[in-house]
Amino acid sequence: MPELRITRLEDVGDQTAAIEVEAPTDFEAYPGQFVLVRATINGEEETGYYTISSPDVEERFEMTVAVDPDGTLGPWLVERALGETITVEGPFGDIQYVDDGVALVFAGGPGIGPAVGIAERARRLDHDVTIVYGGDQPPHGDRLDTLKERGATIVLSDDLEEAVDSIDPSAFEIYVFGFQQFVEEARDALSRAGIDLDTVEIESFGPE
Ligand SMILES: Cc1cc2nc3c(=O)[nH]c(=O)nc-3n(C[C@H](O)[C@H](O)[C@H](O)COP(=O)(O)OP(=O)(O)OC[C@H]3O[C@@H](n4cnc5c(N)ncnc54)[C@H](O)[C@@H]3O)c2cc1C
Repeated sequence: MPELRITRLEDVGDQTAAIEVEAPTDFEAYPGQFVLVRATINGEEETGYYTISSPDVEERFEMTVAVDPDGTLGPWLVERALGETITVEGPFGDIQYVDDGVALVFAGGPGIGPAVGIAERARRLDHDVTIVYGGDQPPHGDRLDTLKERGATIVLSDDLEEAVDSIDPSAFEIYVFGFQQFVEEARDALSRAGIDLDTVEIESFGPE
C-alpha cells in the first residue's frame, strides 16, 4: 500500500478539489482508470475510489474529489496539507484512454476529472475531443477554457438528449463518468440516439 506525498491541493469548483500526488516509480495508468484511497478517520477505516484526472501519471498524477458535506473521506482528503502522504492502491479499472482516437466524454459532477484528463491527452495526441458536462457550472473551468483554446468542444447542458442531438455521437469513442443518476441520463440519451450501449465505456461512481 504505497504512501503518496501530496504535491498540490487546489479548489477547482463548487465543493470540488483536485489533489495531485507523487506517482510511485513503477506506476502505470491512464486517465479513466481509478485508485483506491484508504484512511483511518476517527478510528474508522474508510475507503473510496477516485478516478485519475491528469492526462498522464508521469512523476505525479491528479484526482478530482467531490466533497459531500455528509461524506467522510472527501471532506478529510481536502483538509490534508501539502507534503502529507495518503495511502493509495491501484490502478484499477478497464476504462482508460491511451491513444484511442476521437473521443466524446459525458461527465457529471466529479466525472469532469477524467473528462479533462482524457481531453488533454486526446488533444496532445491531436485527436478531436468533445466533453458534455451535465450542468452549467463545471469544476476545472480554467482547464476547460484552455482545452477550448486548443480545439476541444465543450458542451454544458442539463438536457443530455438535446446535447446528443447537436453532436452525432456515432462518430466518436464514447465515455461516461459520474454518479448513478447522471449515468442513467447519459445512457438514455445515447440509446435514444441509436448508440449501442455495449460500445460505450461507462464508469458509475455509485451509489449502487
Ligand atoms: C469506480 C469509481 C470511481 C470514482 N471516482 C470518483 C472521483 O473521481 N471523484 C469523486 O469525488 N468520487 C469518485 N467516486 C465516488 C467515491 O468513491 C465515493 O463517493 C466515496 O464514497 C466518497 O466518500 P465520502 O466518505 O466522501 O462519501 P460517502 O460517505 O461515501 O457518502 C457520499 C455518498 O453520496 C454519494 N454521492 C455523493 N455525491 C453524489 C451525487 N452528486 N450524486 C449521487 N450520489 C452522490 C456517494 O456515492 C456516496 O454514496 C468513484 C466511485 C467509483 C465506484
